[in-house]
Amino acid sequence: MKRVYLDHNATTPIHPDVKAAMVAAMEVFGNASSHHSFGREAHELIENARKTVADALGAEPEEIIFTSCGSESNNLVIKGVTCGNSICKIGSEKSEVIISAIEHPSVLNTAKCLQGEGKTVHLCPVDEKGVVKLDVLESLLSSRTALVSIMYANNETGAIQPIEEIAKMVAGKGIIFHTDAVQAFGKIPINVKELNLDFLSLSGHKIYGPKGVGALYKRKTRKVCPLIHGGHHEFNLRAGTENTVHIAGLGKAVELSLRDMDSEWQRLAELRNWFEGEVMRRVPESVVNGGDVSRTAHTSNISFRYIEGESILYDLDFDGIAVSTGSACSSGSLEPSHVLLAMGMDHGRAHSSIRFSLGRSTTKEDLAYTVDALERTVTRLRNMSPLWRDKLRQESV
Ligand code: PLP
Repeated sequence: MKRVYLDHNATTPIHPDVKAAMVAAMEVFGNASSHHSFGREAHELIENARKTVADALGAEPEEIIFTSCGSESNNLVIKGVTCGNSICKIGSEKSEVIISAIEHPSVLNTAKCLQGEGKTVHLCPVDEKGVVKLDVLESLLSSRTALVSIMYANNETGAIQPIEEIAKMVAGKGIIFHTDAVQAFGKIPINVKELNLDFLSLSGHKIYGPKGVGALYKRKTRKVCPLIHGGHHEFNLRAGTENTVHIAGLGKAVELSLRDMDSEWQRLAELRNWFEGEVMRRVPESVVNGGDVSRTAHTSNISFRYIEGESILYDLDFDGIAVSTGSACSSGSLEPSHVLLAMGMDHGRAHSSIRFSLGRSTTKEDLAYTVDALERTVTRLRNMSPLWRDKLRQESV
């Protein structure tokens, strides 16, 4: 059976060149902290990867901390700058954190954890297109604000947030600004100095690198308390012998994403637009969620009203097509997507939504196969849906 993978926002396959770099790195078994030649070889691999990541962001190598994933990077900055320890020196009067209502669970739930410690967390709303409301954000800023954390691009709709405007808004107010760029890095050119960012999170497995490795950009002048205490690794900010193999893989993945960024963006935007046009033409009452906004080229979130997204997902899976109903980290939940609800959608429409995320291997043939399958599936499920039948009855009266 044909298999079509349209879930690249959940994870991506390892690029063959990344795999080769990782296999080569497996031969380098020394501990990067050791002073002999074996250690120096491992150290060199790690420092080369650090430079690649730093160059990709317009940062300096000592501003890059390797972590185990994007979630850890988000936890490190959110907990690490608000920990109340004198290390981060943000002042005890600064006890408030502002995040958007559409953040990934690794930001949302970390912020909730701070609430449990008595800190105030404000959720900044988004408009119906899924973009942060800048006027509300501005009204939430105060002398008590320690941290503003707003994602770069949303994982469910692809909506790109006004990061430059937000950075300008918080500048000079003694507020730390972090962006979770896990879905944007490697797809959109990002220069942390031009954007005036304090912290930025990224992850290896979203850019054809390995799972289990990520990084946090930390502006040199900013302080953060570590989550993991121990040895002097990662500038004393993340103890534990470095994962040389995965870090080497991340470095290679970053190099390849930068090389192919423009051409892949162009190719995927064309494919995505064609796909959405075909779906709208062939599947009645389908709506692109947050379609009318600047978004990542490979992400498409579509509602198929009157039926459940979960049923569509399982039906497409029978045809070998992999899609998702929301973020992979929320997939155990029966609640509709918090992102779509924050955009003002009713539960019915939010529940009927499917995320299609394209990637390097996606072809027009894959998408044509998916449109055919979708048309069949949606028709079949709607024929069984009392909501759909009610709608048809009402229209015929
Ligand atoms: N942030 C965003 C926007 C994401 O989409 C994801 C993963 O889906 C993460 C953070 C978490 O990254 P990781 O899986 O590397 O922990």
